[in-house]
Amino acid sequence: MISDDCLFCRIARGDVPVPFVAENALAVAFRDIHPQAPVHVLVVPRTHVTSVLEADPAHLNAVMQLAIEVARAEGVAESGFRLVLNTSADAGQSVLHLHAHVLGGRAMHWPPG
Ligand code: AMP
Repeated sequence: MISDDCLFCRIARGDVPVPFVAENALAVAFRDIHPQAPVHVLVVPRTHVTSVLEADPAHLNAVMQLAIEVARAEGVAESGFRLVLNTSADAGQSVLHLHAHVLGGRAMHWPPG
């Protein structure tokens, strides 16, 4: 399913002119509009999935594979990177379309805020 009301659905199908940094059959990757690190790329499934709670294994696998490809292509696979999937209210999920943040290029803190 693809939703007309969902920003990431519109980006994934090319209705919003956001360049993809990588893509595969089931997912696309593009830069976060408010980057929180030198590398901050979002990986989203092409079809509408609200969060990991609803994602099937094929979409989870496609998102993870593309996130790893992005980390390698952006040069942070060796230095280190963080994959973040904010899910629901307490995690601060603001866009209700599954997305993995690929964050890297600086040292990260733990625990996260
Ligand atoms: P989350 O808080 O995990 O739901 O993350 C949503 C992310 O989407 C935030 O980091 C936003 O900066 C990012 N975002 C919102 N609108 C856009 C957009 N038009 N293009 C790229 N990233 C966006």
